[in-house]
Amino acid sequence: MKVAAFHASRCLPDGDLGPVRAGCLWCGSSDVRPVAMVQAEPEVELRRCRSCAASSVSRLPTPEALDHYYGSYYEGDADHAVTMDDPTRLAARIAGYAPDRRHLRVLDLGGGDGTISAEVLRARRAAGEVTVVDYDHRRTARPPAGVTIDHVTDLAEVPADAAFDLVLASAVLEHLPEPAPVLSGLLTRVAPGGTFYARAPFVEPFLAVGRRLGMTIDFTFPAHLSDLGPAFWDGLGAWEPEVKRFDVLASRPSPVETSLRQRPARTLVAAAAKAPWHVVKGWPFVGGWEWAARATR
Ligand SMILES: [Zn+2]
Repeated sequence: MKVAAFHASRCLPDGDLGPVRAGCLWCGSSDVRPVAMVQAEPEVELRRCRSCAASSVSRLPTPEALDHYYGSYYEGDADHAVTMDDPTRLAARIAGYAPDRRHLRVLDLGGGDGTISAEVLRARRAAGEVTVVDYDHRRTARPPAGVTIDHVTDLAEVPADAAFDLVLASAVLEHLPEPAPVLSGLLTRVAPGGTFYARAPFVEPFLAVGRRLGMTIDFTFPAHLSDLGPAFWDGLGAWEPEVKRFDVLASRPSPVETSLRQRPARTLVAAAAKAPWHVVKGWPFVGGWEWAARATR
């Protein structure tokens, strides 16, 4: 369950789309307003929820359409293991949020071959066990000494009372047709003192400006079904009861996904767009958001 961040959108025909949904994909509120067009014919809108501030698509792809989309994606680009050019850099960032323990149990949703988790453990010089939950498990990263990596296909295969020191949802929640129970299931599985880390796209401000300027900005549908900015993450505790046992460690723009060495132009543009956030309160053009929290009990 992972795709390249800049995979181009596909226009889905009516038969590949479910019915127009009544409300928010996340909190279920019917108080949603359109913010952008995802595709014109047949029409799919991106709608922002006034209650939880998530943006989500008005029509979901059918399960068959999603299977076909991801199936052909993997066939076409089987070597694309992670959505980051430089997984070590992201892993170092996540390692900074992880609890200070010599042995870490890690649950990594959409973790692909387990590279990021393995690198987090390497950065912390910790031993441990990684459980990757992913659609595709044809490859497994080579773990550092003292680390094992296991794969399962579905979160339901991980016992609900299993406790992990680090639970990751890095660039994955936006792909899920039923994300709310998954997020809840991830939070539930964080051990006391453990860390939850998520990052997701936040491109809605670009889409809104594009719409005003008459430009089309690709939402990468049907890969992306949700868009989650700071208002969503900072308000999560209001409707997700599990959040009450967490202290927020960080809620800030996610790191640039590309590296200067591999994609210099894209990296500079992304870094320049994010930079004003450090000085301009509420600067929205950051492209993605990350949220890390520590379970207190
Ligand atoms: Zn909502």
